[in-house]
Amino acid sequence: PQQDITVLGLGAMGSALALAFRKAGLETHVWNRTVDRPGVKAVLADGGQLKDTAASALEASSLIIVCLYDYESIYSVLSTASKEEFASKTIVNLTNGTPSEARAMSSWMREREVLQYFDGAIMNTPQHVGTPHAFVLISGEDEQAFDTISTTLRSIGRLDFLGSEPGAAALYDSVLLAGMYGMFGGTLTAIALLSKASSPREKGTPAVSTAAVIAEKLIPMLQALLPSLVETAEYFDAKDWRGHPANNSVQEGGLRNILATCEDEGVDAGLLRYHHEMFGEALKDGRGEEGMAGLVRDLVGE
Ligand code: NDP
Repeated sequence: PQQDITVLGLGAMGSALALAFRKAGLETHVWNRTVDRPGVKAVLADGGQLKDTAASALEASSLIIVCLYDYESIYSVLSTASKEEFASKTIVNLTNGTPSEARAMSSWMREREVLQYFDGAIMNTPQHVGTPHAFVLISGEDEQAFDTISTTLRSIGRLDFLGSEPGAAALYDSVLLAGMYGMFGGTLTAIALLSKASSPREKGTPAVSTAAVIAEKLIPMLQALLPSLVETAEYFDAKDWRGHPANNSVQEGGLRNILATCEDEGVDAGLLRYHHEMFGEALKDGRGEEGMAGLVRDLVGE
């Protein structure tokens, strides 16, 4: 089993990763561009070993975790190391990026003759690293190679190996986060509307906190709706544009009312407006009886 590990980058996420490896009993070598950072202090206090250059951190262990701000910062950091320093290394890059950045990084690593390159995406916040909420997408190499690192990487969280295409993890990251930002965009609009809404106050409705409305009313409603996300994908896969119970015509009316309420209350509804426009276009095309899954055709330009 792996005895030691190197972590490059001790920001909020990198330091949480280093602490998880320490907890798993690994000798943990670390490097960060700026030494005077809370993450660096926390990891050193927990027995992490600070290297003074990225190249010496690379040299310190056969398994290297990279968690920097973006791919540009990785190139600037790793360009300081010589080709020999990459030999026989397994590099697991957990920096957020795009599939094409991941593929380009994989080629760059090949040129340096690393032993293995994996590209991953962490699907949780730093405070959830090492807890049951933590979940990491990984791609690159093959299942057998993945097996050589999986025990060690499991200290971070549950692992989901997506196969050899190095861009797969970044692609799934975008897929999952697209769903997440949809949820947050709606919630920001909901909070804005609540904060402005004049009518309940005028009627003397007791003041409730925004958080209470989200916790007690929005979350249970969303929870009940979660299975419909799967159904939407199923309708799309089956090319069943008519099966969805709430059709475009109904949805257009619902969103139109939200936009009108936002307008009355002086709230910018831009995060939802494009979705409304898409329903409107579908109605113009005579697709009012279709369900929402059919809108995916417009998104992919069919
Ligand atoms: P932080 O801003 O806390 O840390 C950024 C890290 O990148 C620091 O170590 C910083 O070094 C380093 N860095 C930035 N620019 C450069 C550069 N040009 N050269 C060298 N080092 C550089 O970010 P996080 O730790 O939160 O995020 C790291 C990665 O993890 C990102 O790709 C992020 O998208 C991903 N991630 C983060 C999540 C989160 O909730 N925080 C969730 C999932 C993924 P220095 O201290 O010297 O500035």
